[in-house]
Amino acid sequence: MHEYSIVQAILHRVQETARQRGATSVSSVTVRIGEAAGVEVDLLRTAWDIFRAAGGLGEPELRVLGMSVAWECATCGDPIAAGGPLRCPLCGYTARLVSGDEILLERVELELPEPGPGPVAERASPYLRGEHV
Ligand SMILES: [Zn+2]
Repeated sequence: MHEYSIVQAILHRVQETARQRGATSVSSVTVRIGEAAGVEVDLLRTAWDIFRAAGGLGEPELRVLGMSVAWECATCGDPIAAGGPLRCPLCGYTARLVSGDEILLERVELELPEPGPGPVAERASPYLRGEHV
């Protein structure tokens, strides 16, 4: 299932981050999921509960944030409102998606070994999928 492979990709990235920082466990993982990413958040949570302990980093909590969809004209770059016709009001060209299909790893809360300042938030290289530059 699609959501299972997303969870495995997230856990893989979290494991890399934890290893780089020498973390002993991970307390929470925050992902941002675009409206157009095609992810069922309920299924993602179910998959998370099944797989989260498999990373050997405790049982991190999953937090899910949303991201709305944004469109622009593929020719002139004029922003185009979501929900209306996906066509540029200025030049008539079709719209392209600017954002909203991404899956981002926003934040990983790591538990570092003693002596430490407590949980550390790490902003990992964020894009799991769908990089718009
Ligand atoms: Zn245009």
